[in-house]
Order: sequence, then structure tokens, then C-alpha cells
Amino acid sequence: MSAAGLIGGVAGAAAAAGGLIYASIAPTSQIFGSTLIAGNDRLEIALTFDDGPNDAATPQLLDVLARHNVRATFFMMGSYAQQRPDLVRAVAAAGHLIGNHTMTHPNLLLTSAGRVRQELTECNAVLEDITGEAVEYIRPPFGARRPAVLRIARELKLTPVMWNVTGFDWSPKGTETISKNLDAGIVKNREAGRGSNLLLHDGGHLAMGAARMDTVRAVERLLEADSGTLSRFVTVDAWG
Ligand SMILES: [Zn+2]
Repeated sequence: MSAAGLIGGVAGAAAAAGGLIYASIAPTSQIFGSTLIAGNDRLEIALTFDDGPNDAATPQLLDVLARHNVRATFFMMGSYAQQRPDLVRAVAAAGHLIGNHTMTHPNLLLTSAGRVRQELTECNAVLEDITGEAVEYIRPPFGARRPAVLRIARELKLTPVMWNVTGFDWSPKGTETISKNLDAGIVKNREAGRGSNLLLHDGGHLAMGAARMDTVRAVERLLEADSGTLSRFVTVDAWG
């Protein structure tokens, strides 16, 4: 389910509380605590990929990124990392940044504090066991967060990361539409004088093997278009 779908469903059921619920999900909202989005350099772009590793798209994506000598950020699910440790190692070996996307992708708005802690701790342990590197960033599934989630993340020394451009690529859209979404978002951020943090998906949270080649092709198109321009591709640790 998409963040947008979640907003629609929740807002319909609880219109009175809609403002607060929306604030907890809108990716750029800071009302429930600060999250990392992007820096103030309008030429910087972070490609971020959620819901992997996925053997139907992550290897192809790694090839595209390597061809363009670009590093990206991968927010991985612990359950998938356990199934494909070789892919996690390949992502790390290529110099990309790996972040926590929980073990099983629950909506953290509806999850008890104890389970939130367990989801974050276990995912960290799986990723750190495979890569040998400390995990420092988390993207909450669906972008859903509340004060308890941010507090637990802080206690685990994890920086929550949101986004300010959405590829809307979690259901079949086609490369063309994903590219248009990315381009429009980047233009808007540049006009506002900030960097672009692109939300994309190299996997699907419902099952391993999600079709994500449209996303891979959209990334390739973006990297080709930006080659030779002043755009700089960064990982989210460039911003804090
Ligand atoms: Zn996700």
C-alpha cells in the first residue's frame, strides 16, 4: 500500500483528526519530530531505494549505478536481507549506503512501541551481521511515524530519513511516468533552493521478486540525462 493510499483511507475514516494523521505521514512534515530530508544544495540528488533487496531488480540496478559511477542509498527490509545476504553484500561492496527499513514492513503508526523497537533492532542486527557496518539511517515503512517511533529510532542511534520527490513506482506505472514524476520533483526542489531526495523502490514489501525494471530504466534515463551536467548524486549521509 502506498503512503498516498494510506492517507486517503485514514483521512476518510477520521476526518476530524485528519490534519494530525496527515502530518504524521506527509513526508516533509516535521510536526512529530525532525527527520532528514535533503540539504540546501539544489544540485544534489539522492537516489533512495526501498523494499529490497530484490533479485528481480537490485542486480540490474547495481549495474546501472556502476556504469554511471553513482552511489545510492538502499533502505532494506531485514526479512529480505536474510533471504538474499549475497545481494546485501553486493550493494555494500559497490559503496552504496544501506539503511534500515524494518524487518517486515509494518505500519509503525499501528504498531506497539515494543514491536517497533523489535522491528528496528532486528533489522539492524541482520544488516550489520551481513555487512559488518553499523546502520545509521532508517526510513519508516509508508513514511509513517509518530513520537514513539522517532524516540526509539533516536535511542538506537538511527536517523529517520524521509523524501521530497516520489517516483510513485510501487505499482506499475511505466518508465515514462516515473521519469516525469522525478523530473518534476527535482525542478520544484531546485526552484525552492534545496536538494532532491528521491523515493524509489527496487523491491516490493509484499513479496520478494516484485517487478521493478521500470524503476531501473527510469534511473538509467535520469543518470543519462544528468551526465555532464552540474547535478551531483549523493547518499543521504551527505545531509546529516
Ligand atoms: Zn517500504
